[in-house]
Amino acid sequence: MKKITIAIDGHSSCGKSTMAKDLAREIGYVYIDSGAMYRAVTYFCLQHGLFTKDGVKKDELQAAMPNINISFHLNAEGRPETFLDGKCIEKEIRGMEVSSRVSLIATIGFVREAMVAMQQSMGKEKGIVMDGRDIGTTVFPNAELKIFVTASAEVRAQRRYDELKAKGETASYESILENVKERDRIDSGRAISPLRKADDAILLDNSAMTIPEQKAWLMEKFEETVNCNSPKYQ
Ligand code: C5P
Repeated sequence: MKKITIAIDGHSSCGKSTMAKDLAREIGYVYIDSGAMYRAVTYFCLQHGLFTKDGVKKDELQAAMPNINISFHLNAEGRPETFLDGKCIEKEIRGMEVSSRVSLIATIGFVREAMVAMQQSMGKEKGIVMDGRDIGTTVFPNAELKIFVTASAEVRAQRRYDELKAKGETASYESILENVKERDRIDSGRAISPLRKADDAILLDNSAMTIPEQKAWLMEKFEETVNCNSPKYQ
C-alpha cells in the first residue's frame, strides 16, 4: 500500500503526541515530534546563556544554528527520544524551564526556517506521522491526512499536571494552566506560521475522550484515507 503523510496539529498538551506516536507504531510509520525540536533549540539557548532578561541573543543563536544537531532515537521500549549533539535530552526538554520559554524561541523566523527544512527532509519518503502547530499548514501542506486536535485549557493543564506528577516532577496546576494559556496566546498570535487549523484538516475536540477512544478515532480516519478511492491515495 502506498504510504501517506499524516499531519497532526493542535494546542499545547492536548494529547496529540500520544495519539500520533501510537498511530505511527501501529501502522509502521516514522513518528516525529516537531515540538521536541523547538524544545531542543530552547534547551540549547539555556545551556549557552542565550536568554537575556527580556529576550534572546538572536545574533548569537543565528550563528549557532548550523551547529545545533537534533536527532531522534528509539529507546529500549521503542519510544523515540530527542538528542542534542548526541546527548539524550528527553527529560530536560519536558520541564517547566524549557516549556516556559519554547514559544518565544518558536516565534523566531530563522529558527522556524531551519526546523521546517529539517522536518520536510525527514518526510521526503512519506510514511510519516508528524505532530506540531504548523505541520498541515506549512511543513506538509499536501499531507493526505490532516488532523487538528484541541481540548479545553483546563483539561489540558490537568493532563500535563498528571503527566509531570507521574514522572516525579513538581509543578503547580495553576502554573501549568498559566503556561498552557500563554503558549496558546503566543502560538496563535505569532506572525510566522501561527497555530491555526488548515482548511482541509479534520477537527477533533478530545476533552471528553479517553486515550483508547482517541486512538480508535484516529485509526478510523487513517483507514478511511488510505482506502479512499481518490487517485490521490492510490
Ligand atoms: O508540542 P509541544 O508542546 O512540545 O511544542 C512546544 C512549543 O513549540 C509549542 O508551544 C510551540 O510554541 C512550538 N512549536 C511550534 N511549531 C511546531 C511545534 C511546536 O511553533 N510545529
